[in-house]
Amino acid sequence: KLYNEVQDLKGSIRVYCRVRPFLAGQPNHLSTVENIEDGTITISIPSRNGKGHKSFNFNKVYGPSASQGEVFSDMQPLVRSVLDGFNVCIFAYGQTGSGKTFTMTGPKEITEKSQGVNYRALSDLFYTANQRKDTFRYDVSVQMIEIYNEQVRDLLVTDGTNKRLEIRSNSHRGLSVPDASLIQVSSTNDVIELMNLGQKNRTVGATALNDRSSRSHSCLTVHVQGRDLTTGNVLRGCMHLVDLAGSERVDKSEATGDRLKEAQHINKSLSALGDVIASLAQKNQHVPYRNSKLTQLLQDSLGGQAKTLMFVHISPEANAVGETISTLKFAERVA
Ligand code: ADP
Ligand code: MG
Repeated sequence: KLYNEVQDLKGSIRVYCRVRPFLAGQPNHLSTVENIEDGTITISIPSRNGKGHKSFNFNKVYGPSASQGEVFSDMQPLVRSVLDGFNVCIFAYGQTGSGKTFTMTGPKEITEKSQGVNYRALSDLFYTANQRKDTFRYDVSVQMIEIYNEQVRDLLVTDGTNKRLEIRSNSHRGLSVPDASLIQVSSTNDVIELMNLGQKNRTVGATALNDRSSRSHSCLTVHVQGRDLTTGNVLRGCMHLVDLAGSERVDKSEATGDRLKEAQHINKSLSALGDVIASLAQKNQHVPYRNSKLTQLLQDSLGGQAKTLMFVHISPEANAVGETISTLKFAERVA
């Protein structure tokens, strides 16, 4: 059942969209989102002669009142397929402030109710593994890395080291970053501890004005190994949970120096990701994995039998409409 549910979806790539609510303290603006119905979202676009509209179709669209639990429950079959040996990639895409980190991790102060996908996914894996404990023995371990300016950094170091890591494709044990800390976890509490460590390492060196987290990609990778207790067969699955750098275009006439360099790296890697997913969706022979560190990292988990979820996020404010449209166009291209 599980298998079919996941297979059914077109080409094993699916696209979800989530609209962030207006934030507390924001004046009650009119949302750019005119309507959400099933998988269709309609945006109102200001134009010279009144108002235009544009609709986009996705597998799911969540309005501003969707809860974390609601959002995760739709992703659950995908997450569980890792225990059946599938590789899964889940991406949070959108401009800075659109809610990517909220979806993947949660708000600043995380409660059980506001926990994001990362926590829920791991909890669900432990829960399901435990349910299968008479027939399967599962080992779960995680890595957490960051890609900033096309350099890969380990986020689970405890000694403050900041070594540049190499990406390998087709390495043994299926680890694309074999030198990043690989930590075995067996409970949700283990995961919370590691996520806190990763978060702490991520913000090192970042000031309030220089929030690096919005300009780097962070990736939590979950490796699962399951042994069938009857046959002795071993299966491996891996899941990448990726909080992408902000997709907003930086005005080239204004950005200089480091800021321009960052923007160019982000631009390059997000387009490379779009190109890879679009060419997988079109079942092209050649898939251009080599064009960025991000796509190299995920090469073994994008395409083939792997399942991909592109989860795009949009802000409701009228002044964000340009970025909103470009986010939805990016998503439409890979859907
Ligand atoms: P991003 O990671 O895309 O830059 P954040 O996840 O940091 O954006 O979200 C920006 C702000 O909006 C944060 O304060 C976050 O807690 C809040 N927020 C985002 N999405 C939601 C949501 N669905 N419900 C409530 N608050 C949200
Ligand atoms: Mg963020």
